[in-house]
Parts: sequence; structure tokens; C-alpha cells
Amino acid sequence: MQFHHHGYVTGDPLIHPAAGYGLERPDDLPDEVDVLIVGAGPAGVIAAAQLAQFPGLRVHLVERRPGRLEMGQADGVAARSVETFHAFGFSERVIAEAYRITEMAFWHPDPARPDHIVRGAVPPDDPYGLSEFPHLIVNQARVLDYFLEVAAHAPARLTPDYGIEFVSLTVTQDADYPVTVTVRHTTGEREGEQRTVRARYVIGCDGAHSAVRSAIGRTPVGDTSNHAWGVLDVLAVTDFPDVRTKCAIQSHDGGNILLIPREGGFLVRWYVDLGAVPDDDAGQVRATPVQAIIDRANAIIHPYTLDVRSVPWHSVYEVGHRVTDGFDDVPADRAGTQTPRVFLTGDACHTHSAKAGQGMNVSMQDGWNISWKLAHVLTGRAPEALLATYSAERHVVAQNLIDFDREWSRLMATPPEDLPDPAYLEDFYVKTSEFPFGFGTCYAPSLITATADHQDLATGFPIGRRFKSAPVVRVADANPVELGHHARADGRWRVYAFADAPAPADASALRDWARWLGTAADSPLLRHTPHGADPDAVIEVKVIYQQDHAHVETADVPAVFLPRVGPFGLIDYEKVYAADPQRDIFALRGIDSARGAVVVVRPDQYVAAVLPLTATGSLRDYFARVLLPQEAASR
Ligand SMILES: Cc1cc2nc3c(=O)[nH]c(=O)nc-3n(C[C@H](O)[C@H](O)[C@H](O)COP(=O)(O)OP(=O)(O)OC[C@H]3O[C@@H](n4cnc5c(N)ncnc54)[C@H](O)[C@@H]3O)c2cc1C
Repeated sequence: MQFHHHGYVTGDPLIHPAAGYGLERPDDLPDEVDVLIVGAGPAGVIAAAQLAQFPGLRVHLVERRPGRLEMGQADGVAARSVETFHAFGFSERVIAEAYRITEMAFWHPDPARPDHIVRGAVPPDDPYGLSEFPHLIVNQARVLDYFLEVAAHAPARLTPDYGIEFVSLTVTQDADYPVTVTVRHTTGEREGEQRTVRARYVIGCDGAHSAVRSAIGRTPVGDTSNHAWGVLDVLAVTDFPDVRTKCAIQSHDGGNILLIPREGGFLVRWYVDLGAVPDDDAGQVRATPVQAIIDRANAIIHPYTLDVRSVPWHSVYEVGHRVTDGFDDVPADRAGTQTPRVFLTGDACHTHSAKAGQGMNVSMQDGWNISWKLAHVLTGRAPEALLATYSAERHVVAQNLIDFDREWSRLMATPPEDLPDPAYLEDFYVKTSEFPFGFGTCYAPSLITATADHQDLATGFPIGRRFKSAPVVRVADANPVELGHHARADGRWRVYAFADAPAPADASALRDWARWLGTAADSPLLRHTPHGADPDAVIEVKVIYQQDHAHVETADVPAVFLPRVGPFGLIDYEKVYAADPQRDIFALRGIDSARGAVVVVRPDQYVAAVLPLTATGSLRDYFARVLLPQEAASR
């Protein structure tokens, strides 16, 4: 963590000084805002936490609930989400609080006595080492708390406007505030009062029954019928031996359970499959009594028993596999020519079963994707064309999610004797683990994702996928660190320069590249950094040398990797790294050690381009497409 460069920080460095809108944030929702976020679920709070880093923006988050979510809803936190929490600065606290999944037990009917279940395979949860971050279980309410804390401690001091619900909106030709939103107070003295708010942009994060979605005429497409689960958070006594292990349990009569041990050591969540909901059900399934769900659970786990002592939360969760036909308000025939003004995220775009634990996770990535892009456009860093990439990118992710979840749900509900072999279910789980872990996303070439012409220079950083961290040694203080963990959710781009030659003092492609980046008129660093801002305010440049850190002399490191920052012009020493001889990043990530490589990473941690050190024109052109030129910075 870096701080003190603006002067001595006496308190918690995670609480940033208020600035801009954070100094004058009104208690009441104002008449005009830059961004109105609707709904404080996982998608809405991450968008709030990201946008709050930009104090020049007037961003408000309206939520119909009167206050914080207290319990319930999703609980599975994929490793990609923990990685994301790290970027927002709270991964360590969640890890300390959460339950950690290390393996998953598969139970199925005993072939000798089919009405008894027996344990099958117990594969490790991350057999391929997809991430250095763990797979966690923690309540959605706590995830919301952490993001809202980040938003409240950010320069814009963003806190939700609780007790206000979205009613409708219209998109007009108004040049300043094209979206007119009608909202209504849901609590307190003003309950029932309606008013309008004008916004430049609206992000609909209002869940599966999204009113924002209806207002822009988008519709969910997919299954016509729903599937229901009884979800119980219980404190119980049981002789089921794997009650503190994540389990998929299939019984002989087709009933199945997903058992999730919860944080704190005692609480356990039971997802009990209640089957397909008939078209004429008219919501009756939601009235399923708790005792009926407990009875069903007992029948499925026979011969074991579940003696429930307390049910702190339960729900009948009814959902179909659906993807909304577009994630913004631009009709398909005008995509690319009309600027989107209203965006949909999370459950407003995609609904599916709880079995792969994806609802909260994918929703957070939606919220992060659109919010950094909106911040770029609203602060004048990027052209409006950037906004069209949101729907294009996330629609594909949503469709892949639905396809994966449909197959996983089908397999879990299939009687074992109807599967191709007894280990089919657990094999599928292991083989496809990249997807539920959140690492299946691969963005196609677009305005912001380059083609893979030079992928061979860094095969371990596939373009379009999230930047997978690796260990390195920070040269200045010989600290072993993870390269990717220094990338915070501050809206900045990262450019990693992997050196081509082991001696920094020698003539090398790296040295020429660094000189160009630091001084040339067409350098993207000079072109896209606003006047007076720190040199790394928009694009943060880091170098990774091949040799041991002891053989890197700071005096020989090009100046562009040692930028002077803050009002005192202090040198930032934390952008210079060396390979760790025990776990060499060049070998781990397939970096061409003869030619080196340049790896460009987006603010949401996805690899945007891999280029040769000699391809300065390509790097210039990449950023010229994505970012707008700024007044030349003084150095
Ligand atoms: C009862 C329930 C149980 C669930 N159980 C599971 C589970 O067990 N496992 C799982 O993986 N997923 C579960 N989910 C789904 C999971 O919680 C979602 O996938 C995830 O929360 C989606 O995040 P989101 O931000 O898109 O929407 P949500 O979390 O639904 O958040 C939407 C927010 O918008 C607010 N809102 C809605 N309409 C308006 C309006 N008009 N104006 C203002 N605010 C509005 C809501 O109050 C809510 O806070 C459950 C969802 C629900 C509702």
C-alpha cells in the first residue's frame, strides 16, 4: 500500500481525504447527477465503490430497502471475486471472516442399498492452481458492507440513498442530462412521494425483476418455466459426516442437495432442490413451509439425519435460465452509432440456478466493467465509444454462464444410473472449474481488446483473460510480492514491461522503449496524462527484469519506471521488479526472454494487449483508440 506522498497520513490510510463532490455531498438525492445507480446489490455496490474513486463525479446509489441488507441471498465467493476484493483493498478481512472451500465431496446412492447415500470422490476445489486467492463462503450482506465501506471512505464519500425506489425513466435528446428518472420514497415521512432526477447515465442494478430493464424495453429470454430451491441457513445437529465440507448430494429418487458450510464454524446452508415449477403454480412454491424443506433434506440424506435447532434465514428461490436481449438501451440496429445511456447489470441481465454459485460473482464483474468505463468517459479520459463495449463483452459472458449452469444443473438433477459413468458429475466439476472460479471470461478482439498477433511473447497472459499474477521481487526493498496484487481498483491502466536483456545498463530494446515512452511526442504516457497530474495517474508503467534483484542497480533503471509523484515530486520506487529465481515469472508466464514483452492491462485487470518492446507504434495506436489525448503533462 502506498501513502504519505501527499504528506504525513496520521490515520487509516484506507480512508482517503474527501475531495470534489465528497466535500459537498448533499444529504438528499439532488435533482441532477452524473450517474444514478439503481439497486444496492453486488452489482450496484461495486459500481458505487469504483465510481467513488472519482471525486469529480456526482454519483448516487438509490436502494428501495430502508437500510443495509442484513442476511440472506448468495454466499459463494469465487477466487476471481476475492482477487477483485483485493483490488478494492479488503480481501484479507473477508478471507479472515469467511469459510474457505478446499475440497468438494460428491455423495450418491449406495449401489448396494440405493436408499442410502455414500460418499464418492472428494476432489480438491482448485486442482489446477487457477488462483492464489481462495474460494470462499461468506454472506452477500457482508460483501455489500465491504464495498459500501470502500465507497464511503473514497474521495467522493458515496453512501446509498436508502428508501428510494426507481419507478420509471425516459431517455431524451437533452444534451446535458438525457435520462429523466422518476423515483419514489419508500419509507419515512416522505413515503409515497414521487420526484424526478435527471442523469447523464443510469446503471440498472435492480435485480431479477428489474424495473430499469422494463423501462428500456429489454426482456429476459430463455426458459419459460422456473426451477425452485428451498434455501435454509441452519444451526443443526447432524450425523452427516461431511457437514463442514461443500457437498453435492444426489439421492436415489432424484432429489438433490447442495450443502455449503458457512462462515463462523457452525452455520450451514442447505440448497434443497424443489424441482421444476409448473406454469400454473402462481407463486405457490414460494409458500413451501420450512418444515417441508427440512423433511425433504432428511429424506435425501438418509440414513443420516438433520436435527434443525434454528433457521436464521430461509427462502424459496425460484428462477429460470434467462439472458436479457441486450444490456443497454441502444437497439441492435443502432449499436455503435448511438451512445448508450442506460445499462443493465447482474440479475437484471442474467438469471440461473444457485448451483454453480455464480449469481453474486458475475454480477460484480458486470458492475466493475461498466463503472470504470463510465468513469473514463465522464472524466474525459475516453471517448463515448468505449461504452458500447460493455454490452458486447458482458452479453457473451452471461450467455456462457447460462449454458454452463444449465448443463451443471441438468447433471446434478440426473439420477446417477443415467449418467455415462459414476464419476461423471465430479469429473465435469473438476474439468470445468475455471468457469465457476470466475476465470472462464475471455473477451474477444474489440476496441479495447487487441488481436493476438504477438501472444507468443507472453503465452501465460492470454489476451482477453484476466491478468494472472505471479511472484516477483520488488527491487528497492527486496520484498517478495505478487505482481498483480499491486493493481488497485483506482481506474488506472497498467503497462508491464518485461525486460529483454539481463543487464539494464546495456543497450536493449527495453531501454529504447523506456526512453520513447518517457520522452517521445507520440508516447501514450505523455499524450493521455492530464497536465499537472502525476505521470502514472492514467497509465501505470512497471518493469520486470530477468536477473536477480541484487543485480538490478536502481541508478541504471530508466526514469520512466521511477516516476516522481505527489506535491513533493517524490520518487516512486515500487514499479521496479526482478524475477524471483525460485519461481521465475518469465518461465511461469511464458515470457520470451530473448525479446521481452509489453503487457497492457485494463483497469478491471483483463489483459488488453501483448506487444513487442520494439512495437512502439502499436502501443501508441492502441491507446489512441481507447483514450482521448490530454493537454501535455509537465514533468
Ligand atoms: C431471496 C434471494 C435468494 C437468493 N439466493 C441465492 C443463492 O442462494 N445463491 C445464489 O447464487 N444466488 C442467490 N440469489 C441470487 C443472488 O443473490 C443474485 O444473483 C445477486 O444478488 C445478483 O446481484 P444484483 O446486484 O444483480 O441484484 P440483487 O442482489 O437482487 O440486488 C438488487 C437490489 O436492487 C434493489 N431494488 C430492486 N428494485 C428496485 C427499485 N425499483 N428501486 C430501487 N432499488 C431496487 C433490491 O432491493 C436489491 O437490493 C438469491 C436472490 C434472492 C433475491
